[in-house]
Amino acid sequence: MSLKIYNTMSREKEEFVPRDAGKVAMYVCGPTVYNYIHIGNGRTYLSFDIIYRYLKYRGYDVKYVRNLTDVDDKIINKANEEGVPAEEIAERYSIAFNEDTEQLGLAKPTIVPKATEHVREMIEIIEGLIDKGLAYVVEGDVYFEVTKFADYGKLAHRSLEDMRAGERVEIDPRKHHPMDFALWKSAKPGEPSWDSPWGKGRPGWHIECTAMSLKYLGQGFDIHGGGRDLIFPHHENELAQTEGYTGKQFVRYWMHGGMVNIGEEKMAKSLGNIILVRDLLKEHSPNVLRLLALGTHYRSPIDFSPEKLREAESAYDRFLNARRRIAQALESPAVTRFPELVEEAGRLQRAIQETKSKFIESMDDDFNSAAALASLFELVREINMFIESNEQEMTMIAKDALSTADGMLTELAGVMGLNLMLPEETAGLEANLPAEIYDLAAEVLGLSLDNKAKSELLDELLVRRNEARKQKDWATADMIRNSLAGMGIEIEDTPLGSRWKLSRD
Ligand SMILES: [Zn+2]
Repeated sequence: MSLKIYNTMSREKEEFVPRDAGKVAMYVCGPTVYNYIHIGNGRTYLSFDIIYRYLKYRGYDVKYVRNLTDVDDKIINKANEEGVPAEEIAERYSIAFNEDTEQLGLAKPTIVPKATEHVREMIEIIEGLIDKGLAYVVEGDVYFEVTKFADYGKLAHRSLEDMRAGERVEIDPRKHHPMDFALWKSAKPGEPSWDSPWGKGRPGWHIECTAMSLKYLGQGFDIHGGGRDLIFPHHENELAQTEGYTGKQFVRYWMHGGMVNIGEEKMAKSLGNIILVRDLLKEHSPNVLRLLALGTHYRSPIDFSPEKLREAESAYDRFLNARRRIAQALESPAVTRFPELVEEAGRLQRAIQETKSKFIESMDDDFNSAAALASLFELVREINMFIESNEQEMTMIAKDALSTADGMLTELAGVMGLNLMLPEETAGLEANLPAEIYDLAAEVLGLSLDNKAKSELLDELLVRRNEARKQKDWATADMIRNSLAGMGIEIEDTPLGSRWKLSRD
């Protein structure tokens, strides 16, 4: 069985063969930080979070890069509206983005590069493009000349003529072709700017992603992702610049996520129907929002509505209720019966195995999360049936099977980033964790963290320890492990990442 991915370039599902065996290099276009993210953006990042987690579950060593575009026309416009420096806008919404994505439960990418920290690399690529005759300079601006790149339009599957007809392009007499796009823009007074061979200016949006993806992932990396709306012009332009510059394939698999509509309408500022992630999170658990996303294939559109949210709420409750019933069943005294037949729990045991293989089969089929989720609900049904028919006499064998089912349910949900922990388990856990965690977190993470849960701080300490290990900073890594061990908390390193548990458990 192998993983298949729908490639926007071929418009087909293809078998996934990474550039380097066992490794995945993935780049997803991050936000332009001039506003809070809406649920359309949130869905795209959630989709790639699920993909990232699943690739790791499948044993790949994944390097995931998601950039921050912190210099752009939109940021400058917003700054002018508010009468503040562009840097202030970028800083404010970068912080907001981190808060929103953390609250949404997104795993941190391996690298989160900022465009403003890579301008030198961008200038180098632009110079290379000019040298190759693919770009030209007009009064301090630099443009990419689309007619010089023979394959322009191959990702969007459109010819230059179609594009001209499809896009409202202003006629600019300084450009050789209306579709030529800016690699470098000369600075107006008061705008953020950098020195360049063409005078003071700033990079265009597309060149930012070329520079950052090449720097961290190299040529011909595996997966480049984003929302469908980025196929043209953003990704088409990234591709033309990069392949024009390197002369080699830029990306092996192009992945694009579906949009979110409100009801059946497009979500747009002009329609006044934009829903922000942070507003939704005030009233709904991140798990419910994730379930809503998981219920639809990542490439299909979602028509967002209050009913969809309610469905997701009740789906989440079904999971939690099943886990609660299991916990109760496990607490009831076991009856002894002679002979105790293994076959009593045979149907549930088979359902557990089937769930796992259906789950993997579905996710391997271009990350079909809706089908994967359906297999988990199939297991929930089996669990409920099993409890009902065994309620009166729960044998040890029955309890074992239930406990295995519970483990499988939480494991596979966890692969998709769903947390099925019951509120009472979380509360019990928090109460059992030692208060020294606060001191250690303050020392290692260097912040005042009293408003966070101890279990959350533990997760952050594990992330910090893994970073230290990657940088071969054994002193810090060992210090964290030993300090936790001193508090009775054990770290387990698994292929899925590190976990902690109370050693007295
Ligand atoms: Zn990009």
